[in-house]
Amino acid sequence: MAAELFSAAQVIAIKRDKLELSEPAIKWFVDAYVRGVVAEEQMAAMAMAILLNGMNPTELSNWTKAYIDSGTTMNWSALGRPTADKHSTGGVGDKITLPLVCVAAACGLYVPQLSGRGLGHTGGTLDKLESIPGWRASLSETEMFEVLQNTGAVICAANETLAPADRRIYALRDVTATVESIPLISASIMSKKIAEGTGALVLDVKVGSGAFMKTTQQARELAQTMVAIGKNAGVATRALLTAMDVPLGRSAGNALEVAESVEVLAGGGPSDVAELTVRLVQEMFEAAGVMPTKDPVSALTDGSAMDVWRNMIVAQGGQVDAPLPRAKHTHIIRSTEDGYLTKLDALSVGIASWRLGAGRARKEDLVQAGAGIQWHATLGDSVKAGSPLFTLHTDDEDRFAGAVEALTDGYAIGPENEISDRLPLIIERIQ
Ligand code: URA
Repeated sequence: MAAELFSAAQVIAIKRDKLELSEPAIKWFVDAYVRGVVAEEQMAAMAMAILLNGMNPTELSNWTKAYIDSGTTMNWSALGRPTADKHSTGGVGDKITLPLVCVAAACGLYVPQLSGRGLGHTGGTLDKLESIPGWRASLSETEMFEVLQNTGAVICAANETLAPADRRIYALRDVTATVESIPLISASIMSKKIAEGTGALVLDVKVGSGAFMKTTQQARELAQTMVAIGKNAGVATRALLTAMDVPLGRSAGNALEVAESVEVLAGGGPSDVAELTVRLVQEMFEAAGVMPTKDPVSALTDGSAMDVWRNMIVAQGGQVDAPLPRAKHTHIIRSTEDGYLTKLDALSVGIASWRLGAGRARKEDLVQAGAGIQWHATLGDSVKAGSPLFTLHTDDEDRFAGAVEALTDGYAIGPENEISDRLPLIIERIQ
């Protein structure tokens, strides 16, 4: 057996003592962890040292590269057209990926998107698409290439060989209180996006109660860190900080969000969803350094984005015209007074939707395709006593009580249309 280049304890001590980790030390540490030479407790100690002492940009780029090098990478150069992708840090009612990939493809980009399933109160893109009868998330690399080439966009599950070091370290962070480290979050997200092989990347970093990052300051730091990693890896990367104090659109839940996305693709739907979709597509073109072949707004009104949607869903086995699953039971919450909706808290709506069965508490849990919430009024809308505010959907009636409880402090009706400190939809752009 060849001698190891470093000792794990010595490498951990460098980070513990706030010194700089060299590229060979980082490369060895991550590789040795994957080989079983660095033990779980040693990686846990390193993760804690990184959480406490941070990493400089060079260390972080090397750490991210070590994750990427632990697995395979994808390459789309044979397509002969620019590729761009978008990643959201996750929010409530955030179905933007569904219309976005179609608009971007209708305007001339190829969008290869590897996506995930949801955990906790934020939904996952694959869970949403899996509510379409027949739709298949698992594709081989050849199938992925074919769908991308034929339709302009593909959304599918990342396979096990993509950044496997991240998969294991993420599970370890979960049980060692080291998830909340900006360098570790950034390396985790960016390693998967860089390994995916996209030429350009736009990050939608959510801010607010329903987001991972509760303040603009935290979100800005995360966005700047991820943009720097992307650029160091040769991927043109931009970020928008966007609002997640209020949920996006008018629904949260898997099939409910697919239905709303189809409305947006048909030129209608909630204005915030359409606006953010178009804005992010414009950023994707800007990052890719190419001009769209048409105005992204017109792709939503002339049917071309809808054509991409139909082709993409059918190419992955989805019955695009089949009715979407509906929950067995519904419950309506009505306004008890006349006034204005002065509060609609994203986290409360997300938790309620999750309790109805739209999300999972553990990775192994199943989600209900039809479960979720529709809100019939959004912030600032006038409401009348007796008018419906929310429709709750679930297959298990006994879930209603927990969801109603989660919503109780999540909304308010006031006599005046006065809403203080609401975040703008687009808060900031980071390049
Ligand atoms: N999402 C990821 O993929 N990794 C993290 O660390 C956090 C969110």
